[in-house]
Amino acid sequence: MSSDCLFCAMGSGVMDVPKLHDDDLVFAIRDINPRAPTHLLVIPKEHIPGALDITEAHGPVLGRMYAVAAALARSEGFADNGFRLAVNCGDDGGQTVYHLHMHVLAGRRLGPEG
Ligand code: 5GP
Ligand code: ZN
Repeated sequence: MSSDCLFCAMGSGVMDVPKLHDDDLVFAIRDINPRAPTHLLVIPKEHIPGALDITEAHGPVLGRMYAVAAALARSEGFADNGFRLAVNCGDDGGQTVYHLHMHVLAGRRLGPEG
């Protein structure tokens, strides 16, 4: 856990936020500034700053992130219509929170850049 990290604070429970999913490895929340009718974030509890910091040892947590995204797609009702999973990396990638997270975007026809 990083002491000044927003998503670490949420994952550890220091900051109370409504969670759609919460397990030993990951949690999921609604994005505060949704860019699609449904915009969720799937977030590992481990403080991984970004995609550049991923190693093969992160396989289990990455697998859980995708599995949770798929489960949410079904439970939230957008699996059949389709959706986008995206990880922004660095300034040009649009990353603003430097704790790895997967965007789950759904509910409208997404353009090439989302
Ligand atoms: P990034 O830009 O790093 O890929 O994604 C960070 C996301 O976190 C943004 O879409 C932003 O709207 C979201 N976000 C930032 N602060 C908060 C917050 O306090 N609560 C929630 N639910 N989402 C947040
Ligand atoms: Zn963190």
